[in-house]
Amino acid sequence: MTPDISRYNIYSEYLKKKYGGKVYKLPVNLPGTCPNRDGTLGYGGCIFCDEAGAGFQCLPNTMEIKKQIEENREYFKKRFNAQKFIVYFQAFTNTYLPLSAFMENIKNACLDDVVGISVSTRPDCINDKYLDFLLELKEKSGLNIDIELGLQTVNYHTLEKINRGHSLAEFIDAVLRIHQRGFCICAHLILNLPWDGPVDVVENAKIISALGIRYVKLHSLYVVAGTRLGELYKRGEAPIPSMDQYVDSVVLFLEHLDPQIVIQRLVGKGPEENVLFSNWGSSWWKIKHTIESELAERDTRQGNRFNYLNGRALTVRGMPEL
Ligand code: SF4
Repeated sequence: MTPDISRYNIYSEYLKKKYGGKVYKLPVNLPGTCPNRDGTLGYGGCIFCDEAGAGFQCLPNTMEIKKQIEENREYFKKRFNAQKFIVYFQAFTNTYLPLSAFMENIKNACLDDVVGISVSTRPDCINDKYLDFLLELKEKSGLNIDIELGLQTVNYHTLEKINRGHSLAEFIDAVLRIHQRGFCICAHLILNLPWDGPVDVVENAKIISALGIRYVKLHSLYVVAGTRLGELYKRGEAPIPSMDQYVDSVVLFLEHLDPQIVIQRLVGKGPEENVLFSNWGSSWWKIKHTIESELAERDTRQGNRFNYLNGRALTVRGMPEL
């Protein structure tokens, strides 16, 4: 079946409409760590996290931030004819830096052709002082500011299993604080966690929709050698669902998701080196293509089963006429 990209709300199309041209994200890699690795909240980090802190596609973190932006900007301009950019603070936990260092880095990112800043962090590293600085910057510069929150799953039993170091409550608290300042949120979710099933996939979609999250990035779990997940995987204690199951999960997720939410990614690009498992040995774009074809085959789309908010029982029963 031919894939049909009109069946879900695609980020690139959304950006084109919003900014009137091609907009690309420029990843920035800062030296840093994470409270789930350095002992503040835990040691060892999430069981899937390798030393790169989930930022393997970035330039080296020893490179000055302005240089990283300029180098990436030139590349995207030449390769994709990009016109405007969103600086993406990707690796590690960017709001875990001291406030002064965080402010300095963000100010350094306000360069020509930059229309937005996207800050990736953990839900337990959202603090009013950092958000107030971002709000002031937004008001002065007019830049769009988004916060990306790693959640991975709303199943708090699985959050414990993957050693996230936070539960669902911290995510909800972060969302409420960010929304108070009017910033949009992108939530990261992994839809093939060995300990989650279809019920969790649906609940992921429902909670993200109920909280008014603006963007979603879906990932498939990859397994890097030397991580705790790698050990579990080798012992057969972390069976990864099949690719067909992943495709089913994404379709199910999209069907339950608010159709207004913008999908930044249907599947992640796994690292190429030192991996025990990554995207079923397939390429990310083939998996994306399969999901889009499956949506067309089943004649379904994002939001097809988005019918559970605003007093579901009342709408099922039938609202009385006024
Ligand atoms: S929150 Fe991110 S950087 Fe921290 S341990 Fe987990 S994956 Fe690694």
